[in-house]
Amino acid sequence: MKPMLGSYLLLSIFPFCSAELYRAAAERIMNETPLIDGHNDLPWQLLKKFNNRLSVAPANLTLLSDTHTNIPKLRSGHVGGQFWAAYVPCDTQNKDAVKRTLEQIDVIHRMCDKYPEAFVCVTNSTGIEDAFREKKVASLIGVEGGHSMDSSLGTLRMFYQLGVRYMTLSHSCNTPWVDNWLVDTDQEQPVHNGLSQFGKRVVREMNRLGMLVDLAHVSVQTMANALEVSKAPVIFSHSSAYELCRSRRNVPDDILRRVNEMGGLVMVNFYNMYVSCNKEAANLSQVADHLDHVKKVAGSAAVGFGGDYDGVPTVPQGLEDVSKYPDLIAELLRRKWTETEVKAALALNLLRVFQKVEEVRDSLSQEPPDDEPIAYEELEGQCRTSYGYPARASASTPSLVPAALISPLLYSLLL
Ligand SMILES: [Zn+2]
Repeated sequence: MKPMLGSYLLLSIFPFCSAELYRAAAERIMNETPLIDGHNDLPWQLLKKFNNRLSVAPANLTLLSDTHTNIPKLRSGHVGGQFWAAYVPCDTQNKDAVKRTLEQIDVIHRMCDKYPEAFVCVTNSTGIEDAFREKKVASLIGVEGGHSMDSSLGTLRMFYQLGVRYMTLSHSCNTPWVDNWLVDTDQEQPVHNGLSQFGKRVVREMNRLGMLVDLAHVSVQTMANALEVSKAPVIFSHSSAYELCRSRRNVPDDILRRVNEMGGLVMVNFYNMYVSCNKEAANLSQVADHLDHVKKVAGSAAVGFGGDYDGVPTVPQGLEDVSKYPDLIAELLRRKWTETEVKAALALNLLRVFQKVEEVRDSLSQEPPDDEPIAYEELEGQCRTSYGYPARASASTPSLVPAALISPLLYSLLL
């Protein structure tokens, strides 16, 4: 009986020991190279819960407990860089999208100001590396959805000035210049067949500014167009692999191969619906499957993490909040990812892409800003004035201000 009992004990203890070893290795690696996550919706939670009032007692980011994200959880998760989403829903389009986006940018700045021991707002790749050394979360801003810029290149440029370093070309709605992922489902019809001419100019202007082009949420044709037009590598800030879960929010293999060719990045989303295609059930191992798949098809230089925490209703078992990242890294080590591959996925891939985007910006420094506005006829909505456009444009498009009044009004303003 004794030998049998011994082998039973060995069998039962060994998996535990090895799990502990992988976990310890994950912690060690993440101490050296913390994780940069591509997409977190805590700012949206701050709007929903507190109307962005960080001053009220329940909004304390150290004590906040009913969110995926708070400061202690970020520390336990070894999160060293975070793109915070400045997200406003599609129903703000043609209404108050720009104002609300500015307010989400503002609340991210205020997070950094209020918790300087935890966060530092940064706008470039060296800023991220400095934050790593200071053991703070390098906080970056991503605008989630082209509707936020209201078809205005001037607004896009001002977003950049305010620290925005990526823009997702669309959220879950078409804009006057880009088709979103729903056109690949039966829920919406394509309008532009990807990017319109103006949409391509948006991508070029982002290249010129040094803003990362994010293709999460866009249609497959938009992905293809952006990959063609962009002079810098693109990212998917929070998308998984279509081959493993056939949601159109995920990235198909042919696009993964293009990402490989142009040195881009796919930051894998943890939302159950995009991991297992089952809103109610997914687990950590299935997320690792997506990471494996992206690595297999696009290469280890294209893998990243974009948890979508606090933006989704369900997350996988084992990845309940941002403190759980080390368990996922342990799983990758168990799957024989090398330390180099793990560090690349954690941060070095994003840093490489960001540096490349900065190089492209520098190489375009002699290019003037694109100051040609979108054609008035391409705009939508009833609440829009037409200052600057020829009078005939305003006459052909519904406006609250009758066309005949515009020129005298403009004239009086100029005086
Ligand atoms: Zn999203």
